[in-house]
Amino acid sequence: MRGPLLRHIGYWINDVREETLCAPQEVVGFLPPKIRTRVADYLDRGGNEVMLAQGGTSWCRFCCGIESTAMGSQEWSDGHWVWPAGLSHYVREHEVMLPEEFIRDAQAKHPFWDGAGKRPELMSGRGVDATLWETWCASHRSPAFVQRLRRARDEADVRAPAVREAAWQARIREALATRGLGSGNCQFAGCRETPLAGMRICARHYAWSPSDDASSCYQLDRRLLGSFAFGYDEIGDAYSLTRKLISSADPVSSFIRGRSKAGSLQLWADWNGSEENWQGYTPRTSLMNELDAVVYWAGLWDERRFAGVVLRDETRRMAGTTPSGHDLRRLNRWLLEDAYPSELRRIGMEVVPILSGWVVGDGEP
Ligand SMILES: [Zn+2]
Ligand SMILES: [Zn+2]
Repeated sequence: MRGPLLRHIGYWINDVREETLCAPQEVVGFLPPKIRTRVADYLDRGGNEVMLAQGGTSWCRFCCGIESTAMGSQEWSDGHWVWPAGLSHYVREHEVMLPEEFIRDAQAKHPFWDGAGKRPELMSGRGVDATLWETWCASHRSPAFVQRLRRARDEADVRAPAVREAAWQARIREALATRGLGSGNCQFAGCRETPLAGMRICARHYAWSPSDDASSCYQLDRRLLGSFAFGYDEIGDAYSLTRKLISSADPVSSFIRGRSKAGSLQLWADWNGSEENWQGYTPRTSLMNELDAVVYWAGLWDERRFAGVVLRDETRRMAGTTPSGHDLRRLNRWLLEDAYPSELRRIGMEVVPILSGWVVGDGEP
């Protein structure tokens, strides 16, 4: 079935080379709670109609600790718009705004398919149009964030060639080690290298790859996104920390344990400390998610809970101000670092929030 183009909404920046799509932090804005809930529910009902199952799961750009599996790996649609399955999370939990046209539709329309009867043929032959979404992103961008993004990209451009070269060299060494050298000349024009055994090209030409070995340089860094979330390598001794949490050794550990998901507690209880032979969701990853969720909690700080913890002066000062938003997350991160000084890496104070490019009053339906 051919039909009008499906219009994209809710696709976010994925690495620092991306400048067309914004970060969701740039489009945080006010919607009356009733409308916000309605829009989020509408997005969830799109799950009736799966457009396209993708390979990998998505991740929350706010790094709030939600598991990536909960963010979904599919694109959903109402027959008119198409969005990633995790979009409702941004709308519900992080006050993200969406184009006015969509908000109007979400309030006025019934879901495309109510789950009864024959599922409409949506997928075949329908093209998608990203123009409206990209234009909307462009007009709501935070200029300060775009500047930060460009700086990060420039820095990555400087690091990338060495990373590409190192990856190439590693493949050359491996090819030489596993295949050995043959005789004659590499068949590539102008190449005077000896070919690999049983082949007509040399290790350099054999190991060259157009794939992007340097993509890791361009990853969206959590700090760039203004987040206090834990990086994978910022939890030094994950095993020791899970032991403390499991045994509720102190009031802070007991509190975190009480708020951790049963699945995480089980993973930690079964863990013998080895980081090998885990696929995807590891005890370390689940610990990272639980700690990221703690960073978002409003109720972590309590004088008595932290009575046995040596707090840094800046942590104590910040705790005295009953902070909210970005400052609350900063406080929570510091409290965790102080409570587990030998397990967690300390980050500096210079995490800059992304301020929304949203103009208050703009776009309200
Ligand atoms: Zn989130
Ligand atoms: Zn060659």
